[in-house]
Amino acid sequence: MPVPSADTASTPARENLVVAIDGPSGSGKSTVARRVAAALGLRYLDTGAMYRAVTWWALEQGVDLADTERVAQLAQDIPLTMGEDPAEPTVVVGGTDIGAAIRTSDISAVVSAVATNLGVRAELVARQQAVARAGGVVIEGRDITTVVAPDAPVRVLLIADEAVRLARRAREVHGTDDSVAVDATRDQVVRRDADDSTVASFHEAADGVDVVDSSLLSLDETVDAVLALVEKRTGVRA
Ligand code: C5P
Repeated sequence: MPVPSADTASTPARENLVVAIDGPSGSGKSTVARRVAAALGLRYLDTGAMYRAVTWWALEQGVDLADTERVAQLAQDIPLTMGEDPAEPTVVVGGTDIGAAIRTSDISAVVSAVATNLGVRAELVARQQAVARAGGVVIEGRDITTVVAPDAPVRVLLIADEAVRLARRAREVHGTDDSVAVDATRDQVVRRDADDSTVASFHEAADGVDVVDSSLLSLDETVDAVLALVEKRTGVRA
């Protein structure tokens, strides 16, 4: 009877696979993570959308974001359902689809105040870890490779030069990357990453984390680079 090699024995089957992807704003991680999940037939979890959802919920209820205890309590109580189909991920709170509402500049401007609330992080990380334990998922965010799923078989830090990230976000939000649009985007990218860095470390790869630099890569090339890492680390192919 063939004996499985050590490699095969430790390789997760596709349905148990967890792919963890971190990166700063504008690194392209959401688009890349969705494409990778779709290519591998896995679920997709956008953890940034969860922090945005708590922010939206707090503002809806007129809660002062500086009231850390109340906001942490809201994070525990929020009736949040994350739709994990990579073709059509959804964010629903109490029956209301807030997928578009959480992408506005108003939310982007203040989400770091909620994400740096340690009570909020404890609650959302616990929910994200439950998803990771179930397996069969690509999870993306800021602390997935280090805190949420440090044992994931595939851990990727997606980076890109700041100018490239600014231009990408400007095109996404304003439809152009002229200098006015880039300046208008700077707060959302540079300031937000600086604030977020105080609670999650996503500029340097932790031990065992593979770095993919997308500065000079197209979207297809970036997706292929991540899929190649999945195959190298686990043998699972798209
Ligand atoms: O990725 P996205 O821009 O949607 O993330 C929104 C915000 O959520 C980030 O600016 C950060 O403050 C927070 N976040 C986080 N930890 C994660 C994912 C996102 O703190 N794992």
